[in-house]
Amino acid sequence: MPTLGLGTWQNTDPDACADAVATALDMGYRHIDTAQAYDNEESVGDGLAQSDVPREDIFLATKVWIDNLAADDVVSSTEESLDKLGVDYVDLLYVHWPAGEYDPEETLAAFDDLYDRGLIERIGISNFEPEQVATAIDATEAPIFANQIECHPLLPQADLREACADDGVEVVAYSPLARGEVFDVPEIQDVAEKHDASEAQVSLAWLLEKGVTPIPKASSEAHIRDNWEARTLELDDEDIATIDGIDRRDRQVDPDFAPW
Ligand code: NAP
Repeated sequence: MPTLGLGTWQNTDPDACADAVATALDMGYRHIDTAQAYDNEESVGDGLAQSDVPREDIFLATKVWIDNLAADDVVSSTEESLDKLGVDYVDLLYVHWPAGEYDPEETLAAFDDLYDRGLIERIGISNFEPEQVATAIDATEAPIFANQIECHPLLPQADLREACADDGVEVVAYSPLARGEVFDVPEIQDVAEKHDASEAQVSLAWLLEKGVTPIPKASSEAHIRDNWEARTLELDDEDIATIDGIDRRDRQVDPDFAPW
């Protein structure tokens, strides 16, 4: 999985969303994250088509919304997602939340079916806590590839990351900039100043150092580029210790149906 991706939540203006996807791909990004619930799969598909990057070089992920997690709906809504995206398969299909119509056996049997049909290359889960990760692993024949969770210096998720590592499940970090909250944290500002980098880059470099794949959402070319350049920012042990030592906690995404 390419280690830094582009998020697209709330990028709902069709042209802006397509442009962001095409700009990112042409810059070198190879991982694009969307979801049925973002209402932009068609625009993401337009961005894929606008770019010169071949489909097989792109790691494309989408997510099945909680209302579509009954077996038949998993299949029909995923076929619809592929149609909107204009692709024959996605590289990763997530269960968006363990909520709504989610039933581990039924839902994941339908994911296995899509996997066997070659419509999805990997099965993912999102917003799963450790016990739910274990249950999902038992319920699928194909491996659980990744758990996409909120993760950034204000919500480091050390226990959940460790549980995923023990189970061989990759971690994808959503809201890796804490939706902007990391920009005002003094420790992150200090590390950014030391490296002549942006606070966004520091947060992303910290996640990369933890072995996590961040998927920052950015609309402008400047933000898309700033985030892409985080891959070359090398934080030293002192920087990591400074960021690990931040004790402020902030969870950005916390709906009533969350499992925690
Ligand atoms: P985020 O990536 O932490 O932050 C996005 C915000 O930061 C936007 O307002 C963006 O502005 C701004 N930004 C981006 N790069 C910047 C930079 N270099 N300098 C200054 N500002 C910058 O938040 P997110 O969108 O919540 O999370 C990222 C992605 O994770 C989502 O888009 C989505 O794909 C995924 N996600 C998944 C779930 C889930 O339940 N699985 C939940 C939330 C998010 P501009 O748009 O103006 O550039």
